[in-house]
Amino acid sequence: MNETAPFRVRAEIDLAALRANVRALRAHAPDAAFMAVVKADGYGHGMVPCARAARQAGATWIGTATPEEALALRAAGLPGRIMCWLWTPGGPWREGVEADLDMSVSALWALEEVTAAARAAGRTARVQLKADTGLGRNGCMPADWPDLVDRVLRAEAEGLVTVTGLWSHFACADEPGHPSIAAQLTVFREMVAYAEDRGLRPEVRHIANSPGMLTLPEAHFDLVRPGIAMYGVSPSPEVGTSQDFGLRPVMTLAASLAHVKRAPAGHGVSYGHHYVTPGETTLGLVPAGYGDGIPRHASGTAPVLVDGKLRTAAGRVAMDQFVVDLGGDEPAVGAEAVLFGPGDRGEPTAEDWAQAAGTIAYEIVTRIGSRVPRVYVNERPED
Ligand SMILES: *Cc1c(COP(=O)(O)O)cnc(C)c1O
Repeated sequence: MNETAPFRVRAEIDLAALRANVRALRAHAPDAAFMAVVKADGYGHGMVPCARAARQAGATWIGTATPEEALALRAAGLPGRIMCWLWTPGGPWREGVEADLDMSVSALWALEEVTAAARAAGRTARVQLKADTGLGRNGCMPADWPDLVDRVLRAEAEGLVTVTGLWSHFACADEPGHPSIAAQLTVFREMVAYAEDRGLRPEVRHIANSPGMLTLPEAHFDLVRPGIAMYGVSPSPEVGTSQDFGLRPVMTLAASLAHVKRAPAGHGVSYGHHYVTPGETTLGLVPAGYGDGIPRHASGTAPVLVDGKLRTAAGRVAMDQFVVDLGGDEPAVGAEAVLFGPGDRGEPTAEDWAQAAGTIAYEIVTRIGSRVPRVYVNERPED
């Protein structure tokens, strides 16, 4: 796509920034393997281009939530290790075995399904056992762990599976000092030690997401699994800013103003008239709305950069559009409105939008919808 061609709204994805983020993050965990997490369409940035760019920058593993995502990466020709962790009964285990995926198992039902698929395919399945060390979401509870470990040892002895990893996930790594962090690490070490004493020899043990890898060197183990940080977005203000860690936001979301007009004082703006012009002014129409993933919760608060000035969403964000009060300025129709980006031009960041919408920056980038074209820049690696 021509970068200067007219557009309604688009998300520019800077793959050089993504590669630089991967390199910066690898420097934070130099002794651990790197799994680039690209679930949910690469947190809205595009799964396949982001996985490729992460690989170019040294990510040896790629992680997804669902098996369908992992299989789509294989179908796109991505070689090497790909792990996925969110399975449901009847899931595509056989396809996963044949695509050489590393498949997470949290419970006996999943072990039964993956061994049946391995038998049917006549191949050994790569399995990673997930421990619930305190997140209380997926993963095997400590009380159920001995049984799962024994059963997987038997499946290994039959040549049906090979256990490539033991792993877990943090509940509160984005709240430095939270007591659950140390507690989870203790339980993780115990569950790993139990499995290894019984005879499992995993290639990798891992627990650290972005905040874990950035703030807890003792949580790096053999592999780290950053998602949000790779896209240049901080996991939370408490952990620090992207700049603190040498990270640069990868996505810039911009629109072209679809209408600029004068309005008198007292003019109601958008559904419900939650904004009424305080005096004579100019209004700019931003042609993007919640149908594009712009949060409606940011009505009246969302920041937008127009012509070098920060403006605020005036009134409700609608499905396809919202309005900014331009305070009497008259930029040309078609002028660029930058919703968020790295921030160097004075534009808001995804973190600013998260604050405006009462959510986290993860959701701001991930929810940008399929109606918004992704425009990839700096696709070619620098060396
Ligand atoms: C999403 C996810 C990650 C990455 O988390 P970030 O906080 O984005 O770094 C890592 N591991 C698992 C299991 C995940 O679901």
